[in-house]
Amino acid sequence: MLRRTFSVFLSEGHKKLLPTIRNIGISAHIDSGKTTLSERILFYTGKIKSIHEVKGGDDVGATMDSMELEKERGITIRSAATHCKWKETPINLIDTPGHVDFTIEVERALRVLDGAVLVLCAVAGVQTQTFTVDRQMRRYGVPRVIFINKMDRDGANPAKALKMLRERLGICTAALQIPLGIAHEFEGIIDIITRKVLYFDGKWGETVREVSEIPGYMKEDVEVARRTLTETLANLDPKIEEIFLEEKEPTPEQFDAAIRRQVIANKFVPILMGSAYKNKGVQILMDAVTKYLPSPPERVNVAERFKETVDEDNNRNREKVETVKLESDDDKPLVALAFKLEETQQVGYANYIRVYQGKMRRGDQLLNVRTQKVIPVAKLVRMHANSYQAVEEIRCGEICALLGDAGLSSGDTLVRAIPSGAPGFAGDLLLENMFIPPPVMSLTVKAKKQIEQKPIEAKLKHFCREDPTLHMGTNPETGELIVQGMGELHLDIYFERLRREFNMDTIVGRPTVNYREIIQRGQDFDFVFKRQSGGAGQYAHVKGSVEVLEVDMTKETGTKNRVVLNCQNSEVKENFQKTFAKVFPLTIWPKGPMALAPLWGMKITLTGGGMHEVDSNDQAFKNCAQALFDDIFLKCEPTLIEPWMVVEITAPGQNFSEVLGEFTKRGGVVSNSEVTTEEAVLTGDAALDKMFGFITSLRMLTRGVGTFSMEFKEYRPMTPHAAQEAINKRCKELNRPPFLLA
Ligand code: GDP
Repeated sequence: MLRRTFSVFLSEGHKKLLPTIRNIGISAHIDSGKTTLSERILFYTGKIKSIHEVKGGDDVGATMDSMELEKERGITIRSAATHCKWKETPINLIDTPGHVDFTIEVERALRVLDGAVLVLCAVAGVQTQTFTVDRQMRRYGVPRVIFINKMDRDGANPAKALKMLRERLGICTAALQIPLGIAHEFEGIIDIITRKVLYFDGKWGETVREVSEIPGYMKEDVEVARRTLTETLANLDPKIEEIFLEEKEPTPEQFDAAIRRQVIANKFVPILMGSAYKNKGVQILMDAVTKYLPSPPERVNVAERFKETVDEDNNRNREKVETVKLESDDDKPLVALAFKLEETQQVGYANYIRVYQGKMRRGDQLLNVRTQKVIPVAKLVRMHANSYQAVEEIRCGEICALLGDAGLSSGDTLVRAIPSGAPGFAGDLLLENMFIPPPVMSLTVKAKKQIEQKPIEAKLKHFCREDPTLHMGTNPETGELIVQGMGELHLDIYFERLRREFNMDTIVGRPTVNYREIIQRGQDFDFVFKRQSGGAGQYAHVKGSVEVLEVDMTKETGTKNRVVLNCQNSEVKENFQKTFAKVFPLTIWPKGPMALAPLWGMKITLTGGGMHEVDSNDQAFKNCAQALFDDIFLKCEPTLIEPWMVVEITAPGQNFSEVLGEFTKRGGVVSNSEVTTEEAVLTGDAALDKMFGFITSLRMLTRGVGTFSMEFKEYRPMTPHAAQEAINKRCKELNRPPFLLA
């Protein structure tokens, strides 16, 4: 009885706590100051005792440090989710690395967080990765606030950043603050809602001093900004509209309530500003996180109920039956998502979990819905900055980690392991997994010492479980180990991890691009396959057409191929039709004949054909499909398409022309460049294949200072000459005779 009362008491406590929890992430274009900002947040929330600067700056050594750090982060990112408390608000801070090669980390975080802080640099404003992060945040409908950082830098221009946010990203936004002084004169912030000046005193800016007297020369600016904020909100929020029309002023409480409503409805994104580095403005940002971003019950989360069927070949298929809304309620059946797996030297394996519904207790038996394996909950912890705290129970809306290798992969759904059909059974629910972009480049890799080949393969396999954008396989022709990923840096990090953490050295081959094969012309066919070899022969006759399905070149996942069976069973028996149809998705399309790359955008329609009484069988129709394809493929004018990337390069202004020269030499097409004496930012498109090794050239040209980021834009068809060259190269690597396009 006592135990029950205690648990009811706890449950009530949690119900009260739940609306105060914030699961938030910080996303930004690289170098905007995300790490610097996170450090301040950990400091102000008491998680760390002092502030350590990101080593960096403008000289060669320091930037190399930052590269080193970037790598370091790939290895021991402070921890994927850190628990801290700002005033009375428990906050789970979910880390999202800045580099585009780690875009999956951002996706993962956005999948589980309830709100986000988008950080912008006050000088650069909206940058390429801001677009990416914005798109990702929209995809998951994540409410956010914006922090314009680096207000202390020369050239800081929050008005320009605000304009870019509105015009380039189409975000409905307005500032809640204006700076008091700018660049090296940046002193503090004026809160335009309360009309107060905020200064940040003390060694680490830890004491926020509020002053009611706004300097005379700033008064008009404050009123203009206040009016813009009121008008923007009046257009969205009926309450503010009413106040506005009555020509009254909203109170700070009315402002806050309206901002909160519109942020959660994803209609408005408020702007805050400051300088993380100079310890200004961070506490106010934390207040905004608490005030405006949603708690777990304020977000809608759903799972998909599926039905499992077994087909004639004994394959289990899962079919979606309905979408189920999850409830932030401890008493409902547990539904949780393993969103990240991480192995670090300090902690070992940590499986990060977000509990959406119900609760998870130490000693529970969980079911991994994907694999149907049961997992005991042995060690349940809350992660802190560099350590963890064991807990007995984790409730809905919270984020925790399960320690130990539980065989989980990122994206697995966890429920309580109870018999199917028992009350509270949720083993037929799957949480929608995150969007996983397919890999764009491949490398061959082998162990320096033959004896380490197997352990290296095992480690890489483990990394693949941690990171769904990392893939590995064996080249069937050469037996070589192939690793695929999102870019040079992405793969490099893993080889570096093998070396540093496990003392395993690898020899890495030249990277290759992940081509796709397409056809550009349709064809009708009327094809007879005959094989007479002694005894029973093989006979299959098929009639129909090959058509080109339009490929959406901007999607990395491409267009599905199709086979349509439109043939009378009297002409070709149904079974034979199915056998014929299966050959394409099973053996032909996954590895096209030109470069063993997936073939996209082919539709085959079978409209008729014929059989022979004795010689027609499954094997004959199977062979017929391959022989037909071999016969018709060249007539369909096949070609290769290759990934093109959006590239953004940042370099010192004085190196602009050399960097531009290097980029255009590689066939890069510049779409925008902004050059000041201090910094040049160059944006453009380039074929991924031509960008291999660019980082080395860039470092040489800029004495190590230049950086660049790259993101998939679209596939583009290659010229026949370039396609043939790529095919020849691939065929040589694969030890096969060259495939000739003409
Ligand atoms: P991240 O890549 O977004 O994590 O950025 P970092 O936090 O690593 O910061 C990149 C560089 O910008 C580092 O050299 C920081 O010291 C610097 N930085 C960060 N915040 C500020 C700021 O508010 N003002 C100035 N002047 N520099 C900053």
